[in-house]
Amino acid sequence: MSNILKIMAISAFLAGGQTEASAQNDHFEYNNERFADLQMLRYQVKGFDQLSLKQKTFIYYLTEAAMYGRDILFDQNGKYNLRIRRILEDIYTSYQGDRAGKDFKAFEVYLKRVWFSNGIHHHYGCEKFVPEFSKDWFWKEAQHVMTTDNALRPYEAQLPEIVNVMFNPEVMQKRVNLAEGQDLVLTSACNYYDGVTQAEAEEFYGKMKNPNDPHPVMFGMNSRLVKKDGKVQELVWTTRGLYGQALTKIVDCLRKARPFAEDADQQAVIDKLIEFYTTGNLHTFDDYTILWAANTAPQVDFVNGFTESYGDPLGMKASWESIVNFKDLDATKRTETLSANAQWFEDHSPVDSRFKKEKVKGISAKVITAAILGGDLYPSTAIGINLPNSDWVRKEHGSKSVTIGNLTEAYNLAAKGNGFRNEFIDDKEVIRLVDQYADITDDLHTDLHECLGHGSGKLLPGVDGDSLKAYGSALEEGRADLFGLYYVADPKMVELGLTPNMEAYKAQYYTYMLNGLMTQLVRIQLGNDIEEAHMRNRAFIARWCYEKGQSDKVVELVKKNGKTYVRINDYEKLRGLFGQLLAEVQRIKSTGDFAAAQALIEGYGVKIDPELHKEVLERYEKLNLAPYKGFINPVYTAVKDADGNITDVKVSYTEGYAQQMLRYSKDYATLPLVNN
Ligand code: ZN
Repeated sequence: MSNILKIMAISAFLAGGQTEASAQNDHFEYNNERFADLQMLRYQVKGFDQLSLKQKTFIYYLTEAAMYGRDILFDQNGKYNLRIRRILEDIYTSYQGDRAGKDFKAFEVYLKRVWFSNGIHHHYGCEKFVPEFSKDWFWKEAQHVMTTDNALRPYEAQLPEIVNVMFNPEVMQKRVNLAEGQDLVLTSACNYYDGVTQAEAEEFYGKMKNPNDPHPVMFGMNSRLVKKDGKVQELVWTTRGLYGQALTKIVDCLRKARPFAEDADQQAVIDKLIEFYTTGNLHTFDDYTILWAANTAPQVDFVNGFTESYGDPLGMKASWESIVNFKDLDATKRTETLSANAQWFEDHSPVDSRFKKEKVKGISAKVITAAILGGDLYPSTAIGINLPNSDWVRKEHGSKSVTIGNLTEAYNLAAKGNGFRNEFIDDKEVIRLVDQYADITDDLHTDLHECLGHGSGKLLPGVDGDSLKAYGSALEEGRADLFGLYYVADPKMVELGLTPNMEAYKAQYYTYMLNGLMTQLVRIQLGNDIEEAHMRNRAFIARWCYEKGQSDKVVELVKKNGKTYVRINDYEKLRGLFGQLLAEVQRIKSTGDFAAAQALIEGYGVKIDPELHKEVLERYEKLNLAPYKGFINPVYTAVKDADGNITDVKVSYTEGYAQQMLRYSKDYATLPLVNN
């Protein structure tokens, strides 16, 4: 899987600032609790009440299907996660000691982090977070619950091992390790491989690939690769295989949802998905994604399945996720305008014509309202999605591109007045531009990235979509970002009525460069490298342009009163640099030039200037903001008549974070604590 197609909120926290401490809109409280480096938010499902009963019922069953996959992700993220979660939750609910005491307070934060990350590693940085409560305290409490909870009792003898996994910083250090020169499989703590080396995994899948197959399936995406009896083999995730208990529940919910689908094509999508979950056949999966991509008429839509491969150091194995959503009909007009002009954008891009698509097709673009987030989209989520991931399916059948309007809105409104912008931007004119245009151009950049960026360009015949290996994700995200950056400044935007004038794009250029050169570093601990694909892509773009524009002083880093600021002196030349880099990145992708991808990303996207990093962290710390955000889901309640038919679905926003997590662990627990 070479295309990793998700965009995270990039500069959402830059937006706003006019109204101090007002994170309310229509009396809706967006900000919720805060702990560690995390801020919990709520999102509003505007328009839900206006849907038909049939649509609401459809959504209801799909949200149930979305919840039942939660345990899969915990287990995919690390083989101890389900046992650890169970122990922690038992202690949390039964603890009789001082709940205001130091150990319990630190324990509570740790548990909330485990919930947030779906495991013991940071959801974004992938490093293991080490508990700040005492090991002795934990040992005593864990021993107690392991003897009293029937589900845990079989694992009592493993307590020393579990404590070691939690407390020893040397053990299972990183969920996904992408450090060059190491065995990425053996050094990654994710649960996609067991007892196999990187070389063995690469050999196993290398043999399956037929370079002449124009329609290759995504080998390995739905299985764990293990060595059993000396033989490397796959444990496939199906209703009858690994994770069968969870997948069976999901299939049950899909069956209940099916009669309420909006058209026969959507029912066929559900049938194919059920067939895939039942058989694990990867050709069936491709067929399913083709049906799904073509099914654009219904207002309600969903993703449910093994989707993104960020969690696998080799970029093959897909984590389970789900989102249920419905089209925001007004906002969708914006992305439809882009889609309708897709061929114009492809034809006019600065990319070599050999790498362009003669015919860009099937890009459906819409703005959606998220109704529920599940699996790898919960609580931390994407604000745009572009699927399916298979290169040939995208090329021949197109893809669906969505931006999630109500989540972006929640980010923006929650960030009002947080002081971030005034700390990192010193120029009044730039502040004016950002004030006036950042919200519009940020949304537009996301749309360009998702609707056009990922779908543009083509591989030369015979080029393997996986040739860029570990660099594939960052390069692909960079390609989509560059496409958006290049075009957000195009007069075509004004002509199409997407930006009000030819200065609006400057807000996006400034915030992008600021983020890529400086402020995204707030998400990384001092001394660490940049690992995550989207952060690498922003870094390599911003730094490459900074360096290449140095002789003309296109972009400068200037010091004022000991603080570093980004100064853009020539926006037009910066656009030229984005165009140049887009052409080069497309060439790398189209020709599968691994060495060039490696040089670009290792050269510009990984290492951090420690002095600048320290300064940014110190300035950010003073603002006392959480660098990561995640969402509490709304609660859907089905009102039923005497025969069990749903007569209405109510949505509420009052459930607390811990309350929600405990409810999910209780009502949607599907898997045994150990899955082999
Ligand atoms: Zn993307």
